[in-house]
Amino acid sequence: MTLKIAIDGPAGSGKTTTAKLVAKRLGILPVDTGAMYRAVSYECLRRNIDVHDEKSVESIIDNINIDQKAIGDEIHTYLNGEDVSDKIRTPEVDKVVSIVSSYKKVRDKLVEIQRKLANTQDVVIEGRDIGTIVLKDADIKIFMKASLKERAKRRFNELRAKGVNVNFEDVLRELKKRDEMDSKRELAPLKIPEGAIIIDTTNKTIEEQVEEIIKIIKEVKNKIHT
Ligand code: C5P
Repeated sequence: MTLKIAIDGPAGSGKTTTAKLVAKRLGILPVDTGAMYRAVSYECLRRNIDVHDEKSVESIIDNINIDQKAIGDEIHTYLNGEDVSDKIRTPEVDKVVSIVSSYKKVRDKLVEIQRKLANTQDVVIEGRDIGTIVLKDADIKIFMKASLKERAKRRFNELRAKGVNVNFEDVLRELKKRDEMDSKRELAPLKIPEGAIIIDTTNKTIEEQVEEIIKIIKEVKNKIHT
């Protein structure tokens, strides 16, 4: 049996950075499932596919292969062998990813990849539906949240640091829209998994978030072994 740590939460709650650092501390694989939905979205944009047309999006899914590897401190995402890690974090992809991720065939394909990864090695895996759908049997379920303003601030800084010219109000509006779409959709909506430990990261540093999760993992492991 592999160790499965599931982290869910909305965009900008700190999931990806925390998952990467927790995985590094434990020497296990970090999996960023949002990056997988972003990679499919990126492929749609690149091929000029109308993302509002479910059939068109679904028509390309069988020919898409997605893989992830942790290299140094980063999670790299590969789309049919090409490293697209930087290309998938753009405002253009932000705009369409919640539409693409609402389609059944897209979710079925990516959930299968995610389960395969988690069943063959120990993982810290983050997303929106990990504790509720992908790994209902996860050993530890964490739900990270933060205020909308704080999350928008983080996303804005992240984009600015990469040299992307965005304004704060646009980032905030986009994030709010994505929150709504991700929580209200029919398939695998974002919600707090049963039994999850909730961490509010609004006033926490990344280091504090990582320490808190490591402490939770140690406590759960101790319980399992006693
Ligand atoms: O985590 P990130 O913000 O990169 O995720 C991008 C988008 O991918 C989310 O807004 C959501 O629409 C989708 N997603 C999902 N299920 C997951 C992870 C992400 O639907 N497990």
